[in-house]
Amino acid sequence: MRKQNYRILRLILGDQLNSQHSWYKEKSDDILYVMMECKSETDYVTHHIQKIIGFFASMRQFASSLQEMGHHVYYISLDESDNTQQIDRNCLALMERYQISHFEYQIPDEYRLVQHLEAFTNSLPITFQAYDTEHFFTTQHELAQFFDGKGKTLMETFYRYMRKKHNILMKNEGEPLFGKWNFDFDNRKKLPKSHSVVSPYLFSNDLSKIEDLIKAQGIKSLGVVNSKEFLWPVNRKQSLDLLIFFCNNCLSLFGSYQDAMDSNYWSVYHSRLSFALNLKLISPNEVIEEAISAYEQSEGNIGYNQLEGFVRQILGWREYMRGIYWKHMPEYKELNFFNHKRKLPDWFWNGDTKMKCLHKAISQSNTYAYAHHIQRLMLTGNFALLAGIQPDEVDDWYLGIYIDAIEWVELPNTRGMSQYADGGIVASKPYISSASYIHKMSNYCESCYYNHAKKTGDKACPFNSLYWNFLQSNENKLSSNPRIGMMFKVWQKFSQDQQTEILHQATFYLNNLNDL
Ligand code: FAD
Ligand code: SF4
Repeated sequence: MRKQNYRILRLILGDQLNSQHSWYKEKSDDILYVMMECKSETDYVTHHIQKIIGFFASMRQFASSLQEMGHHVYYISLDESDNTQQIDRNCLALMERYQISHFEYQIPDEYRLVQHLEAFTNSLPITFQAYDTEHFFTTQHELAQFFDGKGKTLMETFYRYMRKKHNILMKNEGEPLFGKWNFDFDNRKKLPKSHSVVSPYLFSNDLSKIEDLIKAQGIKSLGVVNSKEFLWPVNRKQSLDLLIFFCNNCLSLFGSYQDAMDSNYWSVYHSRLSFALNLKLISPNEVIEEAISAYEQSEGNIGYNQLEGFVRQILGWREYMRGIYWKHMPEYKELNFFNHKRKLPDWFWNGDTKMKCLHKAISQSNTYAYAHHIQRLMLTGNFALLAGIQPDEVDDWYLGIYIDAIEWVELPNTRGMSQYADGGIVASKPYISSASYIHKMSNYCESCYYNHAKKTGDKACPFNSLYWNFLQSNENKLSSNPRIGMMFKVWQKFSQDQQTEILHQATFYLNNLNDL
C-alpha cells in the first residue's frame, strides 16, 4: 500500500461483490476501497462454517480482481493486528491514516448494517454519500410504494407488476406470454422411481487456509466442510459457470420437480445460485436473461412452464421478499402471531432424529449448508410451526445454517412464509401439512421409523397429530381463513374419542420433542 494520502474512502461489504457496479468503471488514485473480515459479522449469529469460508474467499478474490483492474484496495483480514473487528472503527482508523475527506458506501441490505452505517456517517466530521448496490430490479422501498393504499401485499400482484415493468416474458400488448401469468399447474411433481437426477455441478476450491484462520481465531461455527474441495462458487466466473450449467442441464426439469424431495438427491434440479446471487457475484437480471436465452435456443427441449417457474422465483419471490423486509422492519423481527414459546429440539443441530425426512433435511444442511425450498418450508419449517417453536429460535437456525442466509431474505421467508408469525403478510395461510404431503412429494416415508399413515399409537408419524393439534389450538385465529378454514370441518368429522386420542398423542410428542 502506497504511503501518500487518498481523498475518498469507499467501503465494500461482504455481500456487495458486484463487479459491474458503476464505481469500478473508472480508476482513480484518489480513491481507496476498503474491505474487511470482522468478528461483528462472524459472531452476530452462529454461522455454518461453509458460509464463513465462502464469504471470506469470495471477498478476497473480489479484492484481488479489483487490484488487478488497477483500483487501490485495502483488505483487512480477520487476524490483522490493527483489525478492530468493527466496520465503523476500521473505517475511522483508515480515514485518519490516509487523511480521507469524503466517505462513500453502498446501501446495505440488512437493517442492522443500515443502522450501523447511518449512525457512523452521522457522527463523521467529513462528507459522505450512500450509493445503490445496482443489483436488484427494485429499490428498497419500491414494493412499499407499489402497495401503498392497495391492501393485501400479494406476491402474485407484485410479480405481474414486475413482469410488465421490466417487459419480461410479455407479449407486446402488456399481456403475458402464452396468455397466462402462472404455469404452476404443469409443475410440482414427485420424482418418478426410475428417474435419475443430473449430478450437481460442484467446485473444488482449496480454501483450507481460510478454514485454518477461522479456527485459529476461535470463531464459533456449525456444520462441516471439506475446505480442500469447497464446492460453492467463490468468484464471478464460477458463478457464471454454475448459471450456464443450470440452464443447460437443470432448467428443463426445474419447474416439474421444484417441489420434489428425495433421499438420494440433495438439490434435485434446483440452481444453487442463491449464494452467488446474494453476494451479488451475479445479478438477477443476467440470471433471467441467461435462462430466457437457454429457453429460446433449446428448440422446445425447455418447456415454457419450466422457464416461467424459474423466472418467478427471481423476479417475483426474491424481489418481493426484499420489499416486504424493508416495508416492515424493524417490527417484523418481533412478530409472533401464534405466541409460540418452545425451544428447538436438540436434533435440529445434528439431524439425530428418527424422523427420516427431518434427519435427511438437517443432515444435508450440515453437510452442504443447503436445503432446497420445499425442504426448508415443508420439512424443517413445517415441523417448527406445528411444534410451536419460538420464531427467534427458528430465525437464528435458518440464518446460521444456510450458505445463502442474509437477514433481508431469510427473515421474511422464515418468520413470514414458513412460520406465519407475521399473521399473513407474506402467506395467505400457514404452510403446514401432515405426513400425507411429505409422503406424496418424497420417498422419505418408505424407510422411516414412523408410519406416515398412522395418527396415533406406536410409531405414528408425529406430523399427523401435531398437524391437528396445531389447527385445534389455533382455531380462533385460523377458522375464518378461506384457505384453511375448511380443515376445521374435517376435524369436526372425527369422533370425540378420535380427537382426544390425536390431541393426547400430540401432547406426548410435544413433551418429548428431543426424543422424536
Ligand atoms: P432455486 O430453487 O434454484 O431458485 C432460484 C432462485 O430463486 C434462488 O437462488 C433464489 O435467489 C430465488 N428464490 C427462490 N425462492 C425464493 C424465496 N422464497 N425467497 C427469495 N428468493 C427466492 N433464500 C435465500 O436466498 N436466503 C435465505 O436465507 C433463505 N431462507 C429461507 C428460509 C425458509 C424457511 C424458506 C422456506 C426459504 C428460504 N429461502 C432463502 C428461499 C429459498 O428456499 C432459497 O432461495 C433457495 O432454496 C435457494 O436455493 P437455489 O438457489 O437452488 O434456488
Ligand atoms: Fe417424515 Fe412422518 Fe414420513 Fe417419517 S413418516 S418421513 S416423519 S412424514
